[in-house]
Amino acid sequence: MPKADGGCRRRTRESVFNIPHPSLRATFPLRGKVNKVSAMAYETVDCVVVGAGVVGLAVARALAMAGREVIVLEAREGIGTETSSRNSEVIHAGIYYPKGGNIARLCVQGRRMLYRYCDEHGVPYNNCGKFIVATTEAERETLASIKARAEANGVEGMAFLSAAEAMAIEPQLHCTGALLSPTTGIIDSHRYMVALQGDAEEAGAMIAYHSPMERGRVVDGGIEIDVGGEQPMTLRTRLLVTSAGLHAPDLARKIEGALYNTLPRAYYAKGNYFRLSGKAPFSRLIYPVPVPGGLGVHITVDLGGQARFGPDVEWIEEIDYEVDPSRGDKFYAAVRRYWPGLKDGALQPDYSGIRPKIVPPGAPAQDFTFHGPETHRIPGLIHLFGIESPGLTASLAIGEHVLEMTRA
Ligand SMILES: Cc1cc2nc3c(=O)[nH]c(=O)nc-3n(C[C@H](O)[C@H](O)[C@H](O)COP(=O)(O)OP(=O)(O)OC[C@H]3O[C@@H](n4cnc5c(N)ncnc54)[C@H](O)[C@@H]3O)c2cc1C
Repeated sequence: MPKADGGCRRRTRESVFNIPHPSLRATFPLRGKVNKVSAMAYETVDCVVVGAGVVGLAVARALAMAGREVIVLEAREGIGTETSSRNSEVIHAGIYYPKGGNIARLCVQGRRMLYRYCDEHGVPYNNCGKFIVATTEAERETLASIKARAEANGVEGMAFLSAAEAMAIEPQLHCTGALLSPTTGIIDSHRYMVALQGDAEEAGAMIAYHSPMERGRVVDGGIEIDVGGEQPMTLRTRLLVTSAGLHAPDLARKIEGALYNTLPRAYYAKGNYFRLSGKAPFSRLIYPVPVPGGLGVHITVDLGGQARFGPDVEWIEEIDYEVDPSRGDKFYAAVRRYWPGLKDGALQPDYSGIRPKIVPPGAPAQDFTFHGPETHRIPGLIHLFGIESPGLTASLAIGEHVLEMTRA
């Protein structure tokens, strides 16, 4: 599983401020000015971002680099401990998503930005490419519609391969045809988040850990936020961006004066992974044709060479990351459709992640959803909802998008 702690945080000059929020009670330098955040009970902070997952960090970075004063409130002990460390670490090309939607646009834009960013910041990645494989004639026809959709989204280089061509490149593969996506890759998501954190801090942002936003209220000129933890405090901010992943819909309901009809509710679609003992059979990522709610049980190989299968789709009521070993039975059948060489007993339960859905099972796929003043008429409030896959890939573009929303 990708590392789920903040232990890899870069220790920069600024990161002395990365301590629980009582530090906010001290005077601290932001962008060369002196701000007393809580010497007075209701000192105004320019921007507060709630959540230090990959998306919250990218938003904080974009705002801070644009000259805004930013505090990130994070309930947990470090960056990226929730969905951002429980995913496939794939840099998605932008293939499947409906044209014109936020996901399609921000994935393609974010992917291009992300490869550049990794080069400039020394973040490890591998632009290994992926095959989407058909295992029946009907699925082979589906590949054509997947390719058309990808091209409509501006995805570069998609190419059909015959079964023989695909199996010549990946000899352990069984298929009736494949679609090559050369711009897909994998990334060390933790090194990426550490780099985002470093940029944000260098631009003056500050991250406060163990600092859950518990509730808020709309006040003159902004939002007042009650921060919990060991030493509760209250902050006022001109701009509040909630980037709270699985918790975003519930958190939005805790802001007095900011309830509105189109606030979504949270649904959880867990994705379980099983790791492969032994050597990875493929050098590219291998995906089946997608299934409702997810991309199908695919194989990814991380930068350490560990192959894992998943995620599947399991709708759940409560957040619970336990992987039920019996779900492995279904994995064998799904994987053997494209890798008949999978041996009995080769899959071990690994980790799981939970998709932050805002639509129930069976509903049409959701888009990334941004609610700003044009939605709820409350100045200085932006909610991010439903940022599931490919949120990691799209994160830099989401940061830019939120920055644009603040300028509208
Ligand atoms: C199974 C799975 C596989 C995926 N695979 C990929 C992939 O291969 N490629 C890809 O591009 N994307 C993938 N994704 C999507 C990607 O992981 C997410 O879009 C991304 O991690 C979301 O980041 P986030 O910052 O919005 O949320 P999170 O990482 O969940 O961060 C939210 C943060 O907010 C904090 N928080 C919540 N409430 C509060 C509060 N009240 N006060 C303070 N802090 C709070 C939490 O502690 C958390 O740190 C996958 C997702 C899943 C579930």
